[in-house]
Amino acid sequence: MYLRKLVLLALVLALLLVCYEPVQARLYSERASGNNLEFLFAGQKVLVTVSGKLNISQSDLRAYVSDAALAVGKIYGQIPVKRTVIRIEATDGHEVGFATSTYDDEADYGLIEISMGRDTSRETLNQSWTLTHEMLHLGFPIVERSKRWLAEGIATYEEPIGRLRMGMVSAEEVWEDLVRHAPAGLPKPGDGGLNNSGSWGRTYWGGAIYCLLVDIEIRQQTANRYGLEHALRGIASGGGTARSNWNARQALAAGDKSIGLDVLTRRYREMAHEPKSVDLANLWKQLGIKKVGTGIVFDDSAPLANIRKAIEAGS
Ligand SMILES: [Zn+2]
Repeated sequence: MYLRKLVLLALVLALLLVCYEPVQARLYSERASGNNLEFLFAGQKVLVTVSGKLNISQSDLRAYVSDAALAVGKIYGQIPVKRTVIRIEATDGHEVGFATSTYDDEADYGLIEISMGRDTSRETLNQSWTLTHEMLHLGFPIVERSKRWLAEGIATYEEPIGRLRMGMVSAEEVWEDLVRHAPAGLPKPGDGGLNNSGSWGRTYWGGAIYCLLVDIEIRQQTANRYGLEHALRGIASGGGTARSNWNARQALAAGDKSIGLDVLTRRYREMAHEPKSVDLANLWKQLGIKKVGTGIVFDDSAPLANIRKAIEAGS
């Protein structure tokens, strides 16, 4: 009897080992056919199609897509939807241009459309955050216009963090960018809450401020065990990706539930309906971020320095 139990236990353990898939997204299969590129990231498919001719090598294009996907994996643990199609349109010039992301319900895939200068280079692509930003959108429901600040805030806030964890940008660059742009997200006299301010600054950077405050508070309440990214994983794994028709409140409630807190919903209530000002100068000081000339230096003795480091490194 004892032996049978032991054999059963060994079988269960073996099965667990076989089924175990590391949470970190990793590229383990790719193949090219014609102008298309196909990737499989831990079971999630990404198909890239190019219309027109790009003057960069297939391997440079592959690197751009896989770097962006892996940066998203640094936040979500994986690519948020089962199938993603990236349609690249070659345009004049050398920059990565306008991009959009949506979900094609009929074909059942996340769809990213992106214009790319045909003379772009590996260097330009390495500096381009666009694809990472668009892929992050696929992890959150496509919410109505008044709540777009949430979706844009998540992508704006998490994109540089994902790329930092890939070693593509430095911590100094990430925080310098946030310190420089965050003031555009604060309410101006006469502004309403974030649900009622459609300006570019309030949508992207107001949303990013919301994410930063939520991230800090989750990390404070859980001694850095969880951060915003864990709540985002909870939303996506609960089904609240771009594939869903969830509304914003549903998504935030699912995120809160997944980490056993109420931070996302509570902060949403504070910032969505009323113009909430945030003392950014004090926040940077608490995090140990100091502006010196055009750059940034870190003060590791600041009260929230350990939180800043955990945001950078992930936990
Ligand atoms: Zn966006």
